[in-house]
Amino acid sequence: MNRHEFLPISIVFSERFLEHDPGKDHPELPARISTVLDVLKEGPLAKAITFYEPVPCTWEDMLMVHQEEYLFRFEERVLKGRQFLDHPDNRLSYSIYQVAMLAAGAGIKAIDLLEAQISNRIKIAPPFCLVRPPGHHADPTHALGFCFLNNAAIAARYWQKRYGRKKIIIFDFDAHHGNGIQDTFYQDPDVYYISIHEDPILSFPGTGFREETGEGAGKGRNLNIPLMAGGIEKEIIKILDQEITPEIETFAPDAMIIAAGFDAHRMDDMSGLQFRTSTYGRIGQYIRIWSEQYCSARTISILEGGYSLEVLGPSVERYLGALSIKLD
Ligand SMILES: [Zn+2]
Repeated sequence: MNRHEFLPISIVFSERFLEHDPGKDHPELPARISTVLDVLKEGPLAKAITFYEPVPCTWEDMLMVHQEEYLFRFEERVLKGRQFLDHPDNRLSYSIYQVAMLAAGAGIKAIDLLEAQISNRIKIAPPFCLVRPPGHHADPTHALGFCFLNNAAIAARYWQKRYGRKKIIIFDFDAHHGNGIQDTFYQDPDVYYISIHEDPILSFPGTGFREETGEGAGKGRNLNIPLMAGGIEKEIIKILDQEITPEIETFAPDAMIIAAGFDAHRMDDMSGLQFRTSTYGRIGQYIRIWSEQYCSARTISILEGGYSLEVLGPSVERYLGALSIKLD
């Protein structure tokens, strides 16, 4: 990548994301974020990157997706010093409630930044939210899979409400199905959730079958593509090309949110998928084309999973490189 030039890259990040420490035996570690920072700061994208500090999302923002009873329960268990929420996987810490609100606030910050840059005709790469905890498993009433607030779903509702970007695609390339995003929008015709993930027969959380296509007014606005050949790069390219691109073109979104998880990498033991670091570059190339051709560059990415401290940084870097490389 050294020989190329890059568009300005906005990364929404706070040191506070490192505060939530679920314990050394837990995979969702603060080191996930610090390793990405280390790689980005030393690599070819460093000069193009500007970091932006998010502010916590509001109670009203959370209520656009989550039920009040759940939010009270979350806060109360943290205040009482409980170990976990809903399942032992969802380890609590003294700061988790604040940190989760800040992570959800990162998507909101990225949208505000992007909308301002577009209205000022500044050409930039799609902003990236370098956040933890992740969000895509959290549903309106439960924490799940290390997720407490659904960062991508809250961002989608905010984009609709604040800027009137009604039709939104959420594309999720994490190794796992984002059951929480699917549940939130399952009956909604305006938010189209598209996910590629490991076969749910083999993989957490056990949802994300082809047959789950939406309900009522949302019928046909939920596309699950389980990766049957193990997620080799050739299979991914074929799916992006032949299945997803035509869907995005037909839906014609006003904006796009990417639930960007990097745990499908062959070195990441959270899944049996076989993505390579280069696969994230290929995915980035497609997202860039979709963004520019179909939604006037209104695209943000939010970090979901990715647990191999060895390959998470290089994978994020390759993805951002593809989103930001100057083509002319
Ligand atoms: Zn995952």
